[in-house]
Amino acid sequence: MTDTERVRAAEAAVIEVRNPGTGAIVGAVTDHTADDVAAAVRELRLFQPEWEAIGADGRKQWLLKLQDWLLDNTEHLADVLQSETSKPRADALIDPTFGADVTGYYARRAAKFLADDHPSPHSPLARVKKLTTAYRPYPVVGVITPWNFPLAMPIMDVIPALAAGAAVVLKPSEVTPLSALELARGWAEIGAPPVFAVLTGGGATGAAVVDNADYIQFTGSTATGRRIAAACVERLVPYSLELGGKDPAIVLADADIDRAAHGIAFGGMFNAGQVCISVERVYVEAPVYDEFVAKLTENVKALRQGIDGRGLNHDVGALANENQVRIVQRHVDEAVAAGARVLTGGKRTGEGTFFEPTVLVDVHQGMSCVAEETFGPTLPVLRVADEDEAVRLANDSVYGLSASVWTGDKDRGERIARRLNAGAVNINDVFANLFSYALPMGGWGQSGVGARWGGASGVRKYCRQQAITKPILPTQRKELFWYPVKPSNLLIALGAMRAAGARGLRRVDLPALLKSTGHRG
Ligand code: NAD
Repeated sequence: MTDTERVRAAEAAVIEVRNPGTGAIVGAVTDHTADDVAAAVRELRLFQPEWEAIGADGRKQWLLKLQDWLLDNTEHLADVLQSETSKPRADALIDPTFGADVTGYYARRAAKFLADDHPSPHSPLARVKKLTTAYRPYPVVGVITPWNFPLAMPIMDVIPALAAGAAVVLKPSEVTPLSALELARGWAEIGAPPVFAVLTGGGATGAAVVDNADYIQFTGSTATGRRIAAACVERLVPYSLELGGKDPAIVLADADIDRAAHGIAFGGMFNAGQVCISVERVYVEAPVYDEFVAKLTENVKALRQGIDGRGLNHDVGALANENQVRIVQRHVDEAVAAGARVLTGGKRTGEGTFFEPTVLVDVHQGMSCVAEETFGPTLPVLRVADEDEAVRLANDSVYGLSASVWTGDKDRGERIARRLNAGAVNINDVFANLFSYALPMGGWGQSGVGARWGGASGVRKYCRQQAITKPILPTQRKELFWYPVKPSNLLIALGAMRAAGARGLRRVDLPALLKSTGHRG
């Protein structure tokens, strides 16, 4: 650090990080300015060409070292993550392990995913060239993430971008920046090239990332996503947005009701409901409604809420901050005021930001708990007459992130999946798509633009496509079409294109062609 940098760092504003379960301050991070972001991006630009040049196999070595680091440091990473989230231990352990899995997937497959394509020429005339599509990374990718999975969320997008050969600037949520800083520490500790920088700060720091990077990968609320899209359009830089959701579960009368009740309890309450693809509303066919509601309520009542250090004795933790508590409480209160019944839960509990796992019935489609994203531990359950009504109500949303269908007939489940307006549908399961990196993960409607992952698409999205043509045959001094214009050459060239394009001589129309190329008046 130079003296000037030292003075600046001392003067820099900081953001305190709190444990939401206890209210304790667990850290403080720099609130980076727009100038800091611009400087960091300038520096990344210096090192990115070398990172691209070492190729996917060269990058694989570094990414596998990072994977080792994640696996070696899992307990510590879970400690840091728990400190800034108040998640139970089981939830906190998922981030580093999931992160290591994603990292290994892209490290090992990027070379194959980024290999040049050699498409067949569309016409016999183009066969004189070898055609190549090369995948060349955007120099600097900006990744902006929310607070719900403070380590896994950044890894999900940072790693594919690094694997593509881009440098990455990450702006983690100001609510949970500590885990992201650990990731940066890991990158430095393995001695990897300086092509990954973490800049902590709030919305203004995120906006500066949008102002400086060459591609923006954003995960967060629909409202922020919309602002980022507008800024990207202004700069003409591409973007991908992973936004909010209101995921429906459809339980049909032929389903295994025990499995549906367990799966939906997990899908609605995992991470205290703060998962973009949480189950947020449940449509149950009338004949099994009572049985399902009784079993779901029993499962949700049995959940153990709290934080347990390094133990595994709790299922559900705290909400990320007071704002989340306010949203969840409002959705429950508005539902109750409009005639809904709370079968379990319904209020905040304990000292911190804990909200009881909640099951709501006698709700209807217009209530905020069914229409708006809650992002908390609530499961509103609605009775439907049949499959058609379930599909109609499930599709009656501005969101379309994911959905689940519970049925004893898997083919029927797939048929229903194809009627749902959602970026992913899990049959007799929840979150399965999230653990399948070979599939795209993207939202429809207001749930997003673009998608992450999806095998090769997951790294190619961070690349610009470059078309390269190379002569196969020895080249002549001049091509037929080059200057000066000659009627005879034009006649041959246009005639050949017409014949090749229309697949035969039928549309060559020699008399008209002779006339238009000046051979006959
Ligand atoms: P948020 O939109 O408030 O913030 C997300 C990030 O954007 C934060 O890092 C924030 O600092 C930054 N930011 C805020 N204003 C900005 C601006 N003008 N320009 C650039 N960056 C800006 O979201 P949140 O409250 O942190 O997260 C919760 C939301 O995230 C929920 O809606 C949830 O559904 C969504 N989410 C979506 C997915 C998905 O994959 N679709 C995954 C997780 C969370």
